[in-house]
Amino acid sequence: MSRRLFDAIVVGAGTAGAITALTLAEEGNSVLLMDSKEKRSIGKKVCGDALGTHHLKTVKLPFPPNETFKGRIDAIRVYSPSTNYSISVEGEGLALDRLKFGQWLLGMALDKGAELKDRTRADKLSFENGRGAELRTVHTETGSVEHVKSRYFVDASGVNGILRKQIPETVGVYRQIPMQDLCVAYREVRRVEKVEDTKIGRIFLDEEIAPGGYWWYFPKDEHTLNVGVGLQGGRGANPKNQLKRIVNERSDLRDSKILDAGGGIVPTRRSMYTLVAGNILFAGDSACTANPMHGGGIGSSMIAGRVCGQAISEALDSPQEERAKLWEANRAYVKMYGAKAASLDIFRLFLQAVTNEEIEFGMMKKLVTDEDIRNLGYGTGGLSIREKASKVIRGISKPGVLGNLAVTAKYMGRIKREYEKYPDYRDFPAWVEKVEGIFREYSSRYLRR
Ligand SMILES: Cc1cc2nc3c(=O)[nH]c(=O)nc-3n(C[C@H](O)[C@H](O)[C@H](O)COP(=O)(O)OP(=O)(O)OC[C@H]3O[C@@H](n4cnc5c(N)ncnc54)[C@H](O)[C@@H]3O)c2cc1C
Repeated sequence: MSRRLFDAIVVGAGTAGAITALTLAEEGNSVLLMDSKEKRSIGKKVCGDALGTHHLKTVKLPFPPNETFKGRIDAIRVYSPSTNYSISVEGEGLALDRLKFGQWLLGMALDKGAELKDRTRADKLSFENGRGAELRTVHTETGSVEHVKSRYFVDASGVNGILRKQIPETVGVYRQIPMQDLCVAYREVRRVEKVEDTKIGRIFLDEEIAPGGYWWYFPKDEHTLNVGVGLQGGRGANPKNQLKRIVNERSDLRDSKILDAGGGIVPTRRSMYTLVAGNILFAGDSACTANPMHGGGIGSSMIAGRVCGQAISEALDSPQEERAKLWEANRAYVKMYGAKAASLDIFRLFLQAVTNEEIEFGMMKKLVTDEDIRNLGYGTGGLSIREKASKVIRGISKPGVLGNLAVTAKYMGRIKREYEKYPDYRDFPAWVEKVEGIFREYSSRYLRR
């Protein structure tokens, strides 16, 4: 057993873990970063590879070096099921080389003094006096077992949340993520003859192809595309088969060559109500920090990593104020991302309940505008259903779930206001109960046909 006591052990060296380790190491703390992958594969991930550059500013990262991305996009265009109508959301984005981007983040953390244990799988966490104390690890090649000790632990192990599953029942922590709140995805990177417009990423809403989700068509460069299907868990469809359908139907994809292929899962529900459980913190997919509406989670995983790293560092400096200092991770995260994500979760539930016909009609009538979607995306405003749109909705003979668009906007506002009152840890259980109550009320009243 290693006799060393680390200030923090970070499990998982993806985007969340690398930024957590970087933040802790920058502040001079001793950090052990572990990953089951070997060092040179850290960062590799089945992903759509798209990252809005505004996230880099939020987490105070420099602009990444050229080799970490393949291209730039200026906008995402969202299409109706018939593809006759679309909404454009402008904003600079990068088509990342995930491996190189991940290696860049890892390199920065190691340069600042974080120690890496690669090919090491975190296994069982032991507790002493209710606190995480010692982690059993297994070498992925030799099978050798070690035990490592730390003052703090960060679960940045992705959707499976290896530590999250082991902690005692804690208010606000999801031990299991419900199936319907997972996005099951499959994507291929394909070499095509020519990408039509390398500056536009495309998202297609189509309940027949991607029930409860969407399929995407993201250019990487003039000849390379990242195409994939993400659908709601539990809906019975297989995203790989659905992508096969798309490829067969599209002449630009039919004869293209697969360069890489694979599937993955992203949690698409509001982030966990707390990123803190005792001396264990959660960042990234393990804390459901991806955007509930579109599943983009690189940026928000880095935000969570930053705030967790900062909070631990502060707690190490002021151990007598540990609880309050750690809680700052929640306050900062909610302000930077969590409030927006929770409000978008209402909209996600709405989108998963409407039919193709309703989406088509809503987009044709511009019930939701480009500006609304941009505001929602950047968290700069809510969904404002204008009088003109309300009239159209009132005029629908069989309004269905679409008829609840205006009330959906109100619930989004309600949730945002609740998050603006994010409590301290003493009032937290009552606050969680209240927020859960609002979600229950919305789902039971407005999502049923
Ligand atoms: C198909 C698909 C497409 C996506 N497209 C996009 C997109 O275009 N844009 C976007 O922003 N987001 C996208 N996402 C979401 C995004 O990839 C994730 O939200 C983000 O990568 C989460 O980062 P993370 O660090 O939390 O987790 P991960 O990237 O999953 O990293 C977790 C790390 O932990 C390690 N690990 C796991 N268990 C253990 C263990 N027991 N011991 C040690 N190490 C362990 C893993 O090896 C891994 O390196 C997509 C996801 C999928 C599946």
